[in-house]
Amino acid sequence: MRDLIRDLTISIANLKSGEIKSFEFFVPQDEWQIPEDQVEPIGPLEIAGTITHAGDFFVFQAKVKTRLKMQCTRCLIDFEQDFVLDIEEELKKSDSPDDLEDEFNDDDNLYSTFAGQEIDLGEIIVEHMVLGLPLQRLCDEECKGLCSHCGQDLNKKSCDCKDKNVDPRLQALKHLLKD
Ligand SMILES: [Zn+2]
Ligand SMILES: [Zn+2]
Repeated sequence: MRDLIRDLTISIANLKSGEIKSFEFFVPQDEWQIPEDQVEPIGPLEIAGTITHAGDFFVFQAKVKTRLKMQCTRCLIDFEQDFVLDIEEELKKSDSPDDLEDEFNDDDNLYSTFAGQEIDLGEIIVEHMVLGLPLQRLCDEECKGLCSHCGQDLNKKSCDCKDKNVDPRLQALKHLLKD
């Protein structure tokens, strides 16, 4: 399988406690992907952030910007939207290289670990982007969706189902109310 994203490695070898290192990455569209159905990058990924040496751990902060093609959850058409996300994560140095991609939950603090003097931020960034995707992906806040009976895209044209397919029990009730 193709990697989700190319290496985005930062060296922390010369970073002393209390120091901050800034970085910027520009990842062309064909060098990253997002592991989520019906979501596809249609632009480069721009990343600007900092790594702070906070004593026992490091703080990774970044703003990521890109453009995505997504499927509307209501009407199922594809639409394009800018996607901007702020990311913050704590990183702890591990002695064992096996821990590299594990995440731990320590006192409700989610953090990643890394080994050696370099941190590969690529997968951490993509992970945050997947979690940051909207659950309701709408082509428009007012999207009317598809008719659940005939499948008509109600943004384009209305259908007669509402009038025809009234629940018979409701129909009976209506008659009662009329009488
Ligand atoms: Zn829609
Ligand atoms: Zn209909």
